[in-house]
Order: sequence, then C-alpha cells, then structure tokens
Amino acid sequence: MSGAYCIQMSELGGPDVLKKTQMEPREPGPGEVLVRQSAAGLNFIDTYFRTGLYPAKLPFTPGQEGAGVVETVGEGVETLKVGDRVTYLGQGTYATHFTGPASRMLKLPDGISEDEGAATVLKGLTAWMLLFEVYRAQPGETALVWAPVGGVGSLLVPWATSMGVRVIAVTSSDEKAELAKKSGAAEVIMSSDDVASRVRALTDGKGVDVAYDSVGKDSAKASLDSLKSRGWFVTYGNASGAVEPLAPGELNRRGSLVMTRPGLFHFVADEAGLKRGAAALFGAMRAGTLKAQIGQTFALEDAAEAHRAIESGKTIGSTLLKP
Ligand code: NDP
Repeated sequence: MSGAYCIQMSELGGPDVLKKTQMEPREPGPGEVLVRQSAAGLNFIDTYFRTGLYPAKLPFTPGQEGAGVVETVGEGVETLKVGDRVTYLGQGTYATHFTGPASRMLKLPDGISEDEGAATVLKGLTAWMLLFEVYRAQPGETALVWAPVGGVGSLLVPWATSMGVRVIAVTSSDEKAELAKKSGAAEVIMSSDDVASRVRALTDGKGVDVAYDSVGKDSAKASLDSLKSRGWFVTYGNASGAVEPLAPGELNRRGSLVMTRPGLFHFVADEAGLKRGAAALFGAMRAGTLKAQIGQTFALEDAAEAHRAIESGKTIGSTLLKP
C-alpha cells in the first residue's frame, strides 16, 4: 500500500534510533480488523522500550494506543464494519495502519473524536484502574498525586476530585501548579520542597490515605513518608527511574502500609475488564467530568522529537503522533 509506514527501531538507544520505515499493512486474519490510524498516543512507557528498561524484541515498532477508522474486516468479525471509528490498546501503534483483534477494539461513542480516543484510552484506563480497581478513594479522603498535569495525571486529578477526594498534587513548575489547581487539586506542592513535611502540615500531621506515584525513583521515599498509618503506596510508574527495592519491615515501621505496583494490562486482559474500564472512561468523558488534554501534537515521522519532549518533563497532558 503506497504511503504506509511505521516508526521502527533496530537498536536500543536515544530518540534517534526511531526511524521512519516503509511497511505493508498486515491484512486482517480471522477475528481481526485493519485500521487506518488517525492518531497514535505517546506514552512514557514507549521510552522504556526504546532505552531497554523494558525488553523489546528488535526490530521494534513502539506505541501502545491509537485510534482510527476500520478499513478492512477479517473473516468472522460481526461487531465492527468498514468505516467504524475505534480506539484500542495494542503493540506497535506508531504507524499509519494497525491490525488487531476486533474483540480488543472499542467503538468510539458519538462526541468523542479519534484524536481524543488516542489521547485518552491508555492514560484514562490507567486513571480508572488506579481510582476504581486498585485503591478506591472515598469522598473526604486525601490523595497525593505526582505529575498531576501529565498524560495520566491530567485525567486522574479531575476524576478523583469529581469523586469528592481531596487531591494534594506534586509538580515541578509554577505553570504546572496553576494548571493542577485549575483541574481540581486542592493544594499543590513543588517537588523541590520537602514534600512529606508539607503533606503533614496540610493534613494536621496525619498524612494522606493514598499516594498515586508515577515518578518512581525520585519520589518513592517522599510518598511513603507522606502516608497515614495503613495508607496505600500505589507506585505505578518510573518517570525518574525504577524504584529502589524496599524491605517489607519498612512498611510495618511506617504503620502497616500497603504497597502495590499495578500494571494496566493485568486489569484489562480479559474482555470484561476492558469493557468495564471503557464504559467508565467514555461515560466520564461524555458527562464532561473528563476532557482529553491534548497538550502537544507531532507528525508521526517526528516521533524522535516527541520522545525528547516527554523525557524533558516539559509536556502537558497527552502527546499525539499524527500520520
Ligand atoms: P507524563 O506525561 O506524566 O510525563 C512524565 C511526568 O513525570 C513529567 O511531565 C514530570 O511531571 C514528571 N517527572 C518527574 N521526574 C521526571 C524525570 N526525571 N523525567 C521525566 N519526567 C519526570 O507521562 P505519562 O502520563 O505517559 O506516564 C506517567 C508515568 O505513569 C510513567 O512512568 C508511565 O510509565 C506510567 N504509567 C503506568 C501505567 C501502568 O499501567 N502502571 C500506565 C500508564 C502510565 P512534573 O513536572 O509534574 O513533575
């Protein structure tokens, strides 16, 4: 198919290993559909595969979320037809086309564009997982949220706030602090401050019920020190590097804490989980509780530039790659 291409890496390394490569879209097998992609979402995890923090089998096409229009339908597919607008999680979405199982594709409801789908399906399902499946914060409880205006954070903060949860956000700049407040954070702490002391001061010395921590290496200790007795340390990302190992006795010493390291794919591996999450996410978007926050858009062929942007820590909301 003329003009079809993907972004491929044949070695691990910096953003420059991401190269535009001609490809022939794979024809859908039984139960699959071929989608012409309108957009792929960029996620921090894509950089982990690029650098080797997570294992990638080379040559490798990064990308875990996308959206587009169904172009060809494989044998036996009854749930989708040519022209349907869909969004999905999948491996290898940095491409003009994506072929995958129809059962894993989510039909986009009216009122949600393909760009909005690609910008929210992975990050929004992650926010759903954290708030509804991992630790369901109750109205009146307090949550510490790191990177509050990043891809996941820009959905997590308004969603938590809409549930009556008091959000204390931690970020790195005045501009981001302002945006975090606008999206519902009750208080914002600078990551350069002594975060745990500031949290104690804001919670009458008690600490927070839960810390949703995507920063990892640089934030884990502050999160643990900010929790109330029996609080939950939900460490779900490594933006600053992998978290150091922690002895179980440390959890006891700090007050019988619970630590968990959830991964979205375990929560949506079965169709029931995926559908439950999608219903919650699309429902919240259609109700206006959540809005896709598309902070940056790059041409797909400029994926390397997009990687440099997200790794600089300067991006806001979601980043899209457009074929
Ligand atoms: P973000 O858009 O949140 O970008 C990362 C943010 O982390 C930055 O903007 C910055 O926010 C903060 N940060 C702090 N230290 C650093 C650093 N050293 N380098 C870069 N950024 C830093 O990314 P995503 O929303 O795509 O992902 C956030 C994290 O969540 C990632 O670690 C990702 O892997 C993880 N994740 C985990 C999932 C799971 O299933 N467990 C699913 C989806 C994402 P600030 O300036 O506010 O500090």
